[in-house]
Amino acid sequence: RERLNRGDSLLTKDLTELLPGSGPPDEDTLEELETRLLMADVGVSATQQIMDGLRERLNRKALANRDQLLQGLRQEVHAILDPVESALEPRQPGDGPFVILVVGVNGSGKTTTIGKLARRFRDQGKSVMLAAGDTFRAAAVEQLQVWGERNDVPVIAHATGADSAAVAHDAVQSALSRDIDVLLIDTAGRLHTQAGLMDELKKVRRVIQRVMPSAPHETLLVLDGSTGQNAIAQAREFHSAVELSGLAVTKLDGSAKGGVLLAVARELKIPVRFIGIGEAAEDLDVFRAEDFTRALLE
Ligand code: GDP
Repeated sequence: RERLNRGDSLLTKDLTELLPGSGPPDEDTLEELETRLLMADVGVSATQQIMDGLRERLNRKALANRDQLLQGLRQEVHAILDPVESALEPRQPGDGPFVILVVGVNGSGKTTTIGKLARRFRDQGKSVMLAAGDTFRAAAVEQLQVWGERNDVPVIAHATGADSAAVAHDAVQSALSRDIDVLLIDTAGRLHTQAGLMDELKKVRRVIQRVMPSAPHETLLVLDGSTGQNAIAQAREFHSAVELSGLAVTKLDGSAKGGVLLAVARELKIPVRFIGIGEAAEDLDVFRAEDFTRALLE
């Protein structure tokens, strides 16, 4: 968790020096804080909510000193993050695998996150299978296969250029017959056009449902947290195409951009399942509002 803000937290860097030790914050201090929130990618509406909350406290004289301001800030940030804390429990009531359809643009960290998740579920004693559904990109199939071999996890793959819905179809069938606990299905992150990509994802989803009507049990979007407000626009587009049930926000290590999680929480209201905090297999944490608030503000 210390790795979350290996850089300085933009929110609180020198904040304690900025704030008056005693007495309520003046207008300049509040404006400086607001600017910092916006610079840290917190986004307009989350920033507004935080500042409104602080001003309301100021009005009722509950912001009498630096400690109370920091405390107020902490509570406002937590109030935004708490509603999207909802851990993913890969268990489904009937027989058959818990199917996770993983979507996201190229470079977001999709393949890495699938590898990390496979490792996590396997370490929990579950049997895991991967489906190399990004048939558009040869390297994506190879990357997943290498990962599978190294970790002894079966990978369903067709040749590059094959129909990605067919890969998903075979994978669900195979997972059903092999009594697999968790099936992670990779998908393309780029096609000739964005509309083409969304259509393909919808088709993959339909085909999965045909083989197993209750699936996918989770449609997880992998978002690059270092892309700031761009991530929000991307998430909206995926959400309208395939109805997301969870997010994994990556690359929250080493940058001061953790504030993007506040924008994500406030504007998307989709459960944040995991956060990526590095490139290694273990660098994936379950998202916890309280831990994240602390990491952002300390
Ligand atoms: P894909 O194209 O979406 O499948 O993306 P990849 O999984 O290939 O990841 C793209 C790059 O981002 C790779 O260099 C990964 O090592 C890196 N990456 C993925 N997740 C994280 C993360 O949480 N933190 C950092 N620092 N790098 C990450």
